[in-house]
Amino acid sequence: MTFTIRNHRLWRDGRHVETLPSPNTGGAFAETPRFLVVHFTAGASARSSAEWFRSPDNRSSSAHLVIDRDGTPIQCVALDTVAWHAGRSQWKGVAGLNSRSIGLELANWGALTRRGGGWTTPSGVAVADPVLAIHRDGNPDGSRTPIGWEPYPAAQIEATTEIARRLVAAYGITEILGHDDIAPTRKCDPGPAFDMARFRAAVLGAARREDGDPALVVTPADGLNLRSGPGTGWSVVELLTLGTRVIPHERDGRWLSVGVLGADGAPRRTGWVHEAYLA
Ligand SMILES: [Zn+2]
Repeated sequence: MTFTIRNHRLWRDGRHVETLPSPNTGGAFAETPRFLVVHFTAGASARSSAEWFRSPDNRSSSAHLVIDRDGTPIQCVALDTVAWHAGRSQWKGVAGLNSRSIGLELANWGALTRRGGGWTTPSGVAVADPVLAIHRDGNPDGSRTPIGWEPYPAAQIEATTEIARRLVAAYGITEILGHDDIAPTRKCDPGPAFDMARFRAAVLGAARREDGDPALVVTPADGLNLRSGPGTGWSVVELLTLGTRVIPHERDGRWLSVGVLGADGAPRRTGWVHEAYLA
């Protein structure tokens, strides 16, 4: 499975992927998209969501790509064109992320419904091994105890990672966000079943290794504690924000002693961070 991007379309093994164009677009990007926004469809197949994006009954939503549970993508909007996936949204002073982002929709039901002793989709289909978790902003039903979420199959994550790597390389994407990062009061996708820290590391880590840059980047949206020693028992000396670059010097288990790089690229202080949150 090899994805490439050419003419603002996604190609797989030398052929462009299936395209079901949506008319719900905002025209060509005025500025290069800096962000990649990950969603779940809250729906059945990728095809059903792509069909909805081009339905005459829908004049308000679309996304660039919908990726099915088996990893098969469908393109709905060309990658040089604004899609309508983010809605009211904000990130680091940018309001309305549609005009600055590429939207990836993953076929996934999201939060499940409790029925009997188990968890089902809204249509009543049982999901055998749901992820039981609480959304960090509270669950969509307002509860704050673990509920069932549909897991993302490995094939879907693998394909999404490959596609995201190509998007980062083709468009110079600098940040990967969830819809729940940019619209936290309205949205809960891609939700707790999606391992965003791992996804960011897999996508941005690979892109950076191709650059030969020795620095690592802080990946959690809400930042990473820089500590005075290798463990959570040591005091926090600074909260490093998403995207901060660090150079590792020394390792103790999964803890790294790092130099924190300033905006000018020179080390400005040292401390310890856990490697799971770096890419
Ligand atoms: Zn969404």
